[in-house]
Amino acid sequence: MSSSILVISAHAADFVWRAGGAIALYHQRGYRVRVVCLSYGERGESQEAWKQPGATLDRVKEIRRNEASCAAEILGAEIRFYDCGDYPLQPSTEAIGRLVGEYRDLQPALILTHPPHDPYNPDHAVAHELALRSRVYAQAAGYPAEGKPLGAPPVFLFEPHQPEQCRFRPEVLLDITPVFEIKKKAMESIPAQKYMWEYYAELAKRRGIQAVRNSGRKQIRYAEAFERAYPQVTEELS
Ligand SMILES: [Zn+2]
Repeated sequence: MSSSILVISAHAADFVWRAGGAIALYHQRGYRVRVVCLSYGERGESQEAWKQPGATLDRVKEIRRNEASCAAEILGAEIRFYDCGDYPLQPSTEAIGRLVGEYRDLQPALILTHPPHDPYNPDHAVAHELALRSRVYAQAAGYPAEGKPLGAPPVFLFEPHQPEQCRFRPEVLLDITPVFEIKKKAMESIPAQKYMWEYYAELAKRRGIQAVRNSGRKQIRYAEAFERAYPQVTEELS
């Protein structure tokens, strides 16, 4: 089995709130984790950064880049920024080609990205579509890119900010108790979205309670929820 995972995040910090626990957990297990941020979220998700005196688009991008890099380092991930723009996020053919390259280069064991619906930020849906589309291209022997065609790694869709409105239904609850303090530290390295810290700490606790209820494993205190983009293939029904 490959020992890497690929995380495709629409904006600079989405991966931290939604999948920081999964990233830290897999890093601790010896996996190489690569995060691709398609955009800095410089227009839509940088409210605090815009309040700073003398804020410009370039300055806000720089702030978001530094924050996301710091969070990735805390979680144990490498990070790449595509700077595809924000409001709207407009992925170019070049960006798709780069993503295909990431898949073929890493041959990830699993992929984490956004679910397909988000009426609060349509760019999350764009990221979803792009992540799945480039995965399919990476599988095609005839697609003109370097490296071996990709196999069929599972895709897990992380929890959006307002799950009910995004038609998100938890299908997988990942126990992140051993790495929750690391996730918390990573979240706190993002002051541009300070209003998210408490919300996602409480969400992890709530998903943890649900994980106990669904497994009987009383030691679980914190969890992250995911949907699956494709069916699970198994020899055991468990
Ligand atoms: Zn976002």
